[in-house]
Amino acid sequence: MSYEYRLPVVILLLVVGLGLFARTVFGRFRVLAAGKPETRWDLVENRVRSLLSVGVGQTKMFKEPASGLLHAFTFWGFMILGARTTQLFVQGFSPDWQLPFIEPIYAPLKDFTALIVLIAIIGFVYRRVIVKPKRIAYSGEALLILGFIGGLMVTEFLFEGLHFGGLIKTGGESATHAHEHLEHAPIGAILANWFATTGIDPKTQQILGEVNFWIHLAIVLTFMNLLPLSKHFHVITSLPNVFLSKLEPKGALSFVPDIEKALEEEKPLGLSKTEDLSWKQILDLYTCTECGRCEVNCPAWTTGKPLNPKMIILDIRDHVYADQARILAGGKVPTAALAISGEVSAEEAEAALPTLIATVNTDAIWSCTTCRSCSEQCPVMIEHVDKIIDIRRHLVMTRNEFPKEVGTTLKNIESKSNPWGMASGKRFDWAKDQNIPTLADTENPEYLFYVGCAGSFDDRAKEITLATAKILKAAGVRFAVMGKKEKCCGDPARRMGNEYLFQSIAQENIDTWKEAGVTKIVSNCPHCYNTIKNEYSQLGANFEMVHHSELIPQLIADGRLNLSAGEKQRVVFHDSCYMGRHNDVYEEPRAALQAIKGIELVEVERSEKLGMCCGAGGARMFMEEKIGSRINNVRVEQLLEAKPEIIASSCPFCMTMLSDGVGAADKKDSVKTKDIAELIADRLILPPAEDVAAE
Ligand code: SF4
Ligand code: SF4
Repeated sequence: MSYEYRLPVVILLLVVGLGLFARTVFGRFRVLAAGKPETRWDLVENRVRSLLSVGVGQTKMFKEPASGLLHAFTFWGFMILGARTTQLFVQGFSPDWQLPFIEPIYAPLKDFTALIVLIAIIGFVYRRVIVKPKRIAYSGEALLILGFIGGLMVTEFLFEGLHFGGLIKTGGESATHAHEHLEHAPIGAILANWFATTGIDPKTQQILGEVNFWIHLAIVLTFMNLLPLSKHFHVITSLPNVFLSKLEPKGALSFVPDIEKALEEEKPLGLSKTEDLSWKQILDLYTCTECGRCEVNCPAWTTGKPLNPKMIILDIRDHVYADQARILAGGKVPTAALAISGEVSAEEAEAALPTLIATVNTDAIWSCTTCRSCSEQCPVMIEHVDKIIDIRRHLVMTRNEFPKEVGTTLKNIESKSNPWGMASGKRFDWAKDQNIPTLADTENPEYLFYVGCAGSFDDRAKEITLATAKILKAAGVRFAVMGKKEKCCGDPARRMGNEYLFQSIAQENIDTWKEAGVTKIVSNCPHCYNTIKNEYSQLGANFEMVHHSELIPQLIADGRLNLSAGEKQRVVFHDSCYMGRHNDVYEEPRAALQAIKGIELVEVERSEKLGMCCGAGGARMFMEEKIGSRINNVRVEQLLEAKPEIIASSCPFCMTMLSDGVGAADKKDSVKTKDIAELIADRLILPPAEDVAAE
């Protein structure tokens, strides 16, 4: 059979297929290039590590082993079969072309890979059609794509089997050529030898082989063209998105430069339209696989709130797609849109276009606890929290639209420097008669003990503050507090979207601490810790920050704390999102608890990276929870499954939420809520009183 006809056909297919693909991708790329600037080229070594582990190694996929394995095999299979696809296109130009040097190794690898991918695709179809996991919505598009991938594997086998089967059946030199070729392709050889024994004549077999060859190439090009028009765009964008993802520090929100000037000039702030997105935020949108992992792990969504992190990403993505023509026309409503809208002016047509912010539910935006469970679960490292906070920034600083409690809290922070609006003169009342050193009366303390608003004003949190101070004293740590002069760290203001207020407070604190010669700070609040450690650096500060859950086990390990053995107690530890997912501190608080003789530390299924938020993060502590069931109650139910006598935590906000949850579960008599500092302080063997005083 002559293969000369292949040349014009393959050229036509490539010109049309690649041309259409380039046109679509170029449009998407131009929108991305029009995004706001963002630096994601630093820390290259970390990026390569993340690319190799999360991207190539597919590590995040294995959180669900079955689907993870199916996806990993398909992904790795695609990487291996890329060379085979290239080979088949080149055979359109030169029918006998083989991969140079590697053919003997590559031929069997390609055969077994195609078989594994085919099995994985059958597994995917079974999951989608029969198992139907909760997080996966029905999608005809997904089934079509699975059909395409399966079709690629089947046509690969049929092409080789029929083509070489026909040659074997022809006999003579043709058969010798076929056997030589199939020497290293075991599955191809089995199929070809089988086809050679069928009643199909050699010519028909070769024609059928050719049909499969062209179907294969046509599927490749159709599949490629569908990618940028569907959720499967992630096939192209996920590796770059992982490489360019946010690295350390995870707990820092993005910085808004020149905010005072922007407010003076009444420039719109935050995220309200496509042009407000950074290029990386747009890349995130392109990359969503619609897998639903973020959705089923979101404390807001799973307790009946209107916030679905997947839909936040998809709604913004769909808006950007719908807005693409306007963006590519330089922000003007394109002629086509004007024509559709009839006799209206450009301004009227512009105004008629829905803005990005109109596509998202603001109740959803205010439901977020900023727990980062969504981003932690996302297999392609999409960042949800920054987008949600950017929308809050627009609602608060530009539109003045927010829930009543948000307005009250922001006013309290502004006027009294605490979210509850307590008299700032009472900030140091917790230390009455406790002989707590202040910066004003201590020479060169090693640590500033930053108490924070909860630890200063909330009655239950004050007990944690006193326990922490008792431990610091017992260990001989030279510390001092700011007393009445302490101010809010700014975390709730920032998470509520008032970036200006946050920056003003943070700058004031930084100036005060620098002037006082502070270099090291200890805090028992994860929110203060995260803000000072990860966000004050955006304003040029670089304090050495430590959380009490990190310092206490260190003091124990250094032999600076002596603990008595106590009665046996079963303790479950609740991870605070801001120490855990935001700062990767998981082991230290557990080490502190395990240092207490008698404590039996138990874990629940949702702990550490999988831990569920208590419901207080993202300044939700200061907002009403009117929709759905209460997050803290659901979390406490999970913790109670471990049958603990004590629920331990390391955050004053978690303490409030967990204590309320234990009350709601009617378990107050049998289950205590304790901060790790309290558990340690209760077991302290104190040195003689005069020694402590001397410290
Ligand atoms: S940060 Fe937490 S609450 Fe907010 S969307 Fe993500 S998972 Fe949901
Ligand atoms: S944002 Fe991430 S986790 Fe959520 S649906 Fe998209 S890919 Fe899946």
